[in-house]
Amino acid sequence: MRRVVCPGSFDPVTNGHLDIISRASRLYDEVVVAVLINKSKKSLFTVDERVDMIAEVTREYGNVKVDKFYGLTVDYCKQQDIPVIVRGLRAVSDYEYELQMAQMNHRIAGVETLFMATNPLYAFLSSSLMKEVVKFGGDISGLVPDSVHQRLIERLQRED
Ligand code: ADP
Repeated sequence: MRRVVCPGSFDPVTNGHLDIISRASRLYDEVVVAVLINKSKKSLFTVDERVDMIAEVTREYGNVKVDKFYGLTVDYCKQQDIPVIVRGLRAVSDYEYELQMAQMNHRIAGVETLFMATNPLYAFLSSSLMKEVVKFGGDISGLVPDSVHQRLIERLQRED
């Protein structure tokens, strides 16, 4: 079975992430979306909340599994016996960091990275920008799934 890992913070998942996940799900037998447990980064949603939101909106694809992990992505890949990571590239600004990570991951573990060009409709999206816009009352409908939009509004209003 051909499997791929799609790692990230997903705080929360956006339609940009979903574009990459859904396209990867058509190329591979199984996509494992792996949410990084990052103890040093303050997140809006807990890891389990992020996992639940992704699971809900990827259910329709039929071959997407959602998991969480701590530590190096390549160690997770080895544990799960998955030789490939897929990452979305939004713009040149993503490229340098992503290239460095991909080269390091290949050097230390032989894990391959495939880059998928982001759909230009979503190239300007990031989870942090979504949070910023919702916090100040901007409309992000169509940019995140409806259920995520609702959760963002509830969480950011409650925080004020
Ligand atoms: P990280 O903190 O590891 O960058 P993210 O949750 O921001 O995690 O992103 C996870 C993956 O989704 C990465 O491959 C990233 O390039 C990709 N991604 C993020 N935003 C978008 C977007 N708007 N369109 C396509 N891919 C995206």
